[in-house]
Formats: sequence, structure tokens, C-alpha cells
Amino acid sequence: MNTTIRSYFPILDQEINGHPLVYLDSAATSQKPIQVIEALEKYYKFNNANVHRGVHTLGNRATDDYEGAREKVRKFINAASTQEVIFTRGTTTSINTIASGYGRQNIVEGDEIVITYMEHHSNIIPWQQLAKEKGAVLKYIDLEPDGTISLDTVRKVVTPKTKIVSVMMVSNVLGTINPVKEIAKIAHGNGAIMVVDGAQGVPHMKVDVQDLDCDFLAFSGHKMCGPTGIGVLYGKKAILENMEPVEFGGEMIDFVGLYESTWKELPWKFEGGTPIIAGAVGLGAAIDFLNEIGLDTIAAHEHQMARYAMDQMSTIDGLTIYGPKDEMKRCGLVTFNLDDVHPHDVATVLDMNGIAVRAGHHCAQPLMKWLEATATARASFYMYNSEEDIDALVKGLRVAKEYFNDVF
Ligand code: PMP
Repeated sequence: MNTTIRSYFPILDQEINGHPLVYLDSAATSQKPIQVIEALEKYYKFNNANVHRGVHTLGNRATDDYEGAREKVRKFINAASTQEVIFTRGTTTSINTIASGYGRQNIVEGDEIVITYMEHHSNIIPWQQLAKEKGAVLKYIDLEPDGTISLDTVRKVVTPKTKIVSVMMVSNVLGTINPVKEIAKIAHGNGAIMVVDGAQGVPHMKVDVQDLDCDFLAFSGHKMCGPTGIGVLYGKKAILENMEPVEFGGEMIDFVGLYESTWKELPWKFEGGTPIIAGAVGLGAAIDFLNEIGLDTIAAHEHQMARYAMDQMSTIDGLTIYGPKDEMKRCGLVTFNLDDVHPHDVATVLDMNGIAVRAGHHCAQPLMKWLEATATARASFYMYNSEEDIDALVKGLRVAKEYFNDVF
């Protein structure tokens, strides 16, 4: 499947440092297929105008494109209505909007907010800030030794005092797929709302918000073949209707008086200012592309990539792999360390061989502490990667190992 799929991604057809590019950093941002690039080009060449206020033809075309993208997102995550789909800049903005909108209105002193040790900074800091402002208590769900979450632990940490539970669908470091549907049940059973950070989940597996019964879902377009600068905040209509906007200005208003104003209906009351029109169009094209390939096919391919990568990488002496060893419990990424070599040095040697991996704390410093690692390297896969890419990675790691053994 991958030769055809790979041919849709023009950027992959190049050499880096004299070697064919092996792109293993899709968890940071995915590459973009020609279908998305052409949709952006078509939008800017033929349809560009501002939305929702033009009486002219281009304005109507741009509005149709923008609102058409919203319907594609709705269907993709099976939201009940387009009123529940808000365009944002990405996962970070979406979670901040929940914390500043829902959080500020609903959290009071002594309330509990529950997250886990594996969260990305984007799903930690907005809650830290909210807890500080309101005198609320931020609690962490501890992890099992294999980097998974036990529902028994969740049941112990979530209490009737808990008002918000916020958990990532898939870890960007461990690859762990979390039982967010079951965690949502526990949250609701205690009267809390459930927020899901879908940044690493939505691009890789079928997500149905009505089945998950989450109250909010946040995700980013750029990790799912779409452009940067566009993301989604899904929220249940009943909650969003009672939530105040967090950005005020043009586009989001109904009536403006000298001292009082009223807001547009959902979803527009949360989209102040000129929206990210081209970004939404690109995300719509990305969703068409993902649907064409099929989320189940993508998920199956990633499990297979994870299995193959773990098996091949385990043959290297001194290589530590983090996260669950069962490929069905994880998505297509493998985080690792090689002996005592700093992951930045490993990544630099790999880059000299045309292989792009990520190195650092991956915006998850509390998790790094939990892993007792200052930093790690991460190879992450998407539908365009193949076993040959993993073979190249393993070969590159052997080169790095030899190089550093000689140096030290
Ligand atoms: N959550 C997770 C799990 C992520 O992996 C990322 C991106 N690395 C984010 C949140 C933040 O996404 P963005 O930078 O697109 O806002």
C-alpha cells in the first residue's frame, strides 16, 4: 500500500545529506499529500475572500468552503451537529479555550482537576494556571510500570470533588492508547466532565465523540495531513451554549451597543476575528484523504509498524524502548534511548544519514521525570512509512552506536 500512498507526498521524494529522506517525525507534524496542497492552491487561486459577510460571489464561495470543512469535521468525529465543531489554531488553543471558558466559569476553590503523568504540556499548564487562579487542586493519575493507565487507579484518584478529568487519547511519548471511553464513564459517575486531548489519537484511529461520550475533544490539523494553524475544539452543545466566549471582537457578535453586546449562536461565538479559512479548507481536504485511505487501514498499518520497529530495534545492544511492549496497546511510534548517548547526538547522526527523528523532552517533562530520563529520541510513523524506513533507522542506529563507542 505504501508505494502508492507515499507517491502522494511530494516532500518525501528528496535526498537529505546525500541519502533518501526517511521521515520518522509525524507525531510532531505529518507531511501533506498533494491533494491538500492542491486544495490550498485552488482556494487561494479561485475562491479567496472573507467569510460570512460578503454578498459577492467569492465571499459566498469562501463561506461555502469554510462551512463545508466544518461539516467534514463533524462527520469525521461523528459530532451530533456542526454547532459543536469550533475551529481553533490547534490542540493547545482548544485546551486553553476549555480552561479559560468552561474552567473559569465552573471551577471554585477546593474543586479537583485530574490529569495523568503522561500528559503533554498543553494538557498540563492550562490546568495548573486554572488551579492556581481558583484555588483548585490539580491531581495526577499515576502510570503502571509499562506506561499504561489502570482504571483502578483512575477510580481512586477521581472523586465526587473532581470537576474536570483531562486525558490524552494517545501518548506522544509512550505511544500508549488510553481507555478514554472508560475514563469518561468514571468521570461522569463522579459528576465531572471529560476532556480528551486527541492530538495523537484523531489522526491515527477512528474517533466517535458520541460513542466516547467525551464533553470536549481537542485536536490539530497539522498532525493529520492538514496545514499548520488549524485545529478543532469539539464540545457538547449543552455545555458550549452555557460557556462564555474567550475571544471578543469581530465575527463573533450579534449586536454591539456602547456598553453591552450579544454573541452569535454556536459555533461562531467562539470564532472571534477573521477565521482560519484556508486552514479549514486544507483540513477538509485532509479529512477526505484520510477517509479515502481509511482510518482502520491506517491504524492496522501503525500497529504493524510499531511491532516491526520494536522487534528490529530490540536487536541493538544497549537500546531502551519506553512504553507498552504489546503493539495493540500503542500507536505507531517508538521512543528510545541508546546507551548513555544523548538523544540529540543520536538524532544528529541519524540526520546525517537522511533519517528524521525527534529528540528532547517532547513537551512532557513530568513524564520524563517519571521515566527517569532527561530526554529521549522518538521515531514516529504514519501511513507513508514502510518496513524499509525502519530498516534504515536500525542501520542508522548501528552507525550511531559504533560512532559513539569509538568517540567515548
Ligand atoms: N497534545 C499532544 C498529545 C501532542 O502530541 C501535541 C503536539 N505535540 C499537543 C497536544 C499540542 O498540539 P499543537 O502544538 O498542535 O497545539
